[in-house]
Amino acid sequence: MALHKGPQKHQERVLSVNPFFGEANPVGGMTEAPPTHRLPDAPMPPTTAYQLVHDELMLDGNSRLNLATFVSTWMEPQAGVLMSECRDKNMIDKDEYPRTAELERRCVAMLADLWNAPDPAAAVGCSTTGSSEACMLAGMALKRRWTQRNADRYPGARPNLVMGINVQVCWEKFCNFWEVEARLIPMDGDRYHLDPRAAAELCDENTIGVVGILGSTFDGSYEPIAELCAALDALQERTGLDIPVHVDGASGAMVAPFLDEDLVWDFRLPRVASINTSGHKYGLVYPGVGWALWRDSEALPEELVFRVNYLGGDMPTFALNFSRPGAQVVAQYYNFLRLGREGYRAVQQSTRDVARSLADRIEGLGDFRLLTRGDELPVFALTTADHVTAYDVFDVSRRMRESGWLVPAYTFPANREDLSVLRIVCRNGFSHDLADLFLDDLTRLLPELRRQPHPLNRDKEAATSFHH
Ligand SMILES: *Cc1c(COP(=O)(O)O)cnc(C)c1O
Repeated sequence: MALHKGPQKHQERVLSVNPFFGEANPVGGMTEAPPTHRLPDAPMPPTTAYQLVHDELMLDGNSRLNLATFVSTWMEPQAGVLMSECRDKNMIDKDEYPRTAELERRCVAMLADLWNAPDPAAAVGCSTTGSSEACMLAGMALKRRWTQRNADRYPGARPNLVMGINVQVCWEKFCNFWEVEARLIPMDGDRYHLDPRAAAELCDENTIGVVGILGSTFDGSYEPIAELCAALDALQERTGLDIPVHVDGASGAMVAPFLDEDLVWDFRLPRVASINTSGHKYGLVYPGVGWALWRDSEALPEELVFRVNYLGGDMPTFALNFSRPGAQVVAQYYNFLRLGREGYRAVQQSTRDVARSLADRIEGLGDFRLLTRGDELPVFALTTADHVTAYDVFDVSRRMRESGWLVPAYTFPANREDLSVLRIVCRNGFSHDLADLFLDDLTRLLPELRRQPHPLNRDKEAATSFHH
């Protein structure tokens, strides 16, 4: 979580409390505000506390107008009811909450089947707080397998992980925290993600694995996982190096199985050792759940698995956290049961339809060039057309905020730092109607933007609200 500092002088705001709020105060209403950067000396009535916190949160954005985030902002009321029924359940207490543990197990089984594990019964997996923890676990398994194979050379040799420069920040964290060299394949021309041949060329005897992304957070494109595996097969033939692949399917592992059935990206490829997804992205659950699966127990070294018996029972676990809420896992199971394959297909298809149609209509405005069209992840990136010199993507992002829309603008990494883009993430709940309103607002804004003398936001370093 964000690293915060202790009390700062300039932050000491004096909250004033509406006398109406202090209903339980015997002298007719509390007007003196509580401190905000140290614990108040005394308790206050729950209604007053509720109103204070509630009012402050009104200034948070409207999540449904946020086209920056991938994370679910809408679930059915029934899912909400189930989640509130489970908010006291601790996922780690497998013995006290055996049914919650069973629902987690069923979700893993369903995902192993969905991702075509050759022997679903042999696949192993777990829930996590999100894809970041799942990627951390998958990376640890890759590293441990490599150290086991190279016990004679390690720790002298330095392990490395090969991936496109477009990876999500969790992979930079993994490499930093676990002291693995990140070997990044830069972007090149209009290739905005990993190139299979370049990936194979970066591999050597210290490579713990290659990460392929389905799909890229930068532009929503799928990386070519099958071609990546083929390039690594060829590498093995040439050199004997057998490099496993992890697929970071944070978004796409819950899109491709329903909409792109012919795309081979998952455990059907023998080289794919593990896959992760974010249950709280296109798994359609509120924030707080991800999944990590390994094709079989060989891909997940037994020595990383912990069995603790101090809560009773001794269910094996693989996790960074200990305690964690069970509600999100229950909500994931609810969605699986409620939607089934057909339901997920319908939901994802309608989100993709919204993305594709919005991308086409934005292109039709004449001022923009699309880098992607929303036909892989329902996400697309665009930049201003060459003839547009009066304004840039940062101006568009800033001005769309005036109508409540959050659309991040950011520059691409090497070797396309010259390219600045806007990215639009369509999610369940961003309907055709909302897309129409978005397009109306953008269309209304363009004449004003075109009259600018030059782009006004010169600070390109400061990307606006880019959520991976
Ligand atoms: C979102 C994302 C992550 C991180 O996932 P969280 O669930 O937010 O922790 C990792 N990789 C990719 C490709 C992503 O899109």
